Amino acid sequence: MLDRASLARDLRAAIGKGELFLQYQPKAHLRSQRIASVEALVRWQHPVRGLVLPGDFISLAEESRDIVDLTVWTIQQVVKDQRLLAADGHDITVFINISGGLLSDARFVRRACALVQSSGVKIGFEITETAVIREPETAIAHLQAFADIGIVIAIDDYGAGLSSLAYLKQLPARELKIDKLFVTQLTSSNRDPLIVRSTIDLAHALEMEVVAEGVETAAAFALLSVMGCDVVQGYFISRPLGLPALIEFLERDHSDGFDRHRASLPNL
Ligand code: C2E
Ligand code: MG
Ligand code: MG
Ligand code: MG
Repeated sequence: MLDRASLARDLRAAIGKGELFLQYQPKAHLRSQRIASVEALVRWQHPVRGLVLPGDFISLAEESRDIVDLTVWTIQQVVKDQRLLAADGHDITVFINISGGLLSDARFVRRACALVQSSGVKIGFEITETAVIREPETAIAHLQAFADIGIVIAIDDYGAGLSSLAYLKQLPARELKIDKLFVTQLTSSNRDPLIVRSTIDLAHALEMEVVAEGVETAAAFALLSVMGCDVVQGYFISRPLGLPALIEFLERDHSDGFDRHRASLPNL
């Protein structure tokens, strides 16, 4: 408890002190073998504890409401990085993870819309379905406001939480991301391929693109390709990368497969 309290206190200061930074993980389009988009993932370089991953601080930020400042910072940083990418000829959508609670915060929604609209860059938001359960009407209206200004909505971690088909039908989402829970053991489990297969069919019936996260092996990559999955993301394609490494990755030719260059990729 003490530890969480001190981490929460440090986090409040971390944003202003420049201790947060972003890594970007590519999402690859299977048919064209091109990078479809990237996802921004926040990291915290703590002066004493070293690198802290979001699993250890996002929930703290959600409880203290520091999540608002953290997310505003993330959007601003993504816009800056996207200008650098565009200057290098990479006009690519960047997805940002948006905590569920923010979808019922009208002030945050107005602020996020203003930031994205004035930037002119291509932005996507990843949200989990659980995000809409508490105040479904408000959350769905806010998602619609995001979609109306061109923000691409993706449903994150599909299948891992309380998946409700009733909400899925109403969300203005263009992408469905199948949780890595069903993907990392895709080729060694009996049931996961059935679940993934039917989720792909469901998403396509709803006219959504399907993204599989947690693709770690050539075997999973190949199976997803046969199953008609649209986009894949995971260590097999690339780990999350800092901006310079991302630019290097985008500039490589991947037309004869992603695995060819994988061994030479740095871990950051
Ligand atoms: P997520 O959005 O579902 O992100 C996927 C997580 O899986 C990332 O962990 C990523 O590094 C990891 N991953 C990627 N490829 C593979 C793979 O092939 N195998 C395995 N086993 N894991 C893989 P990370 O970066 O630690 O992020 C964890 C969660 O923290 C994210 O889950 C997201 O919910 C949240 N998060 C990250 N950045 C932000 C942010 O800026 N704002 C908010 N609100 N949440 C964030
Ligand atoms: Mg995500
Ligand atoms: Mg996810
Ligand atoms: Mg996940």
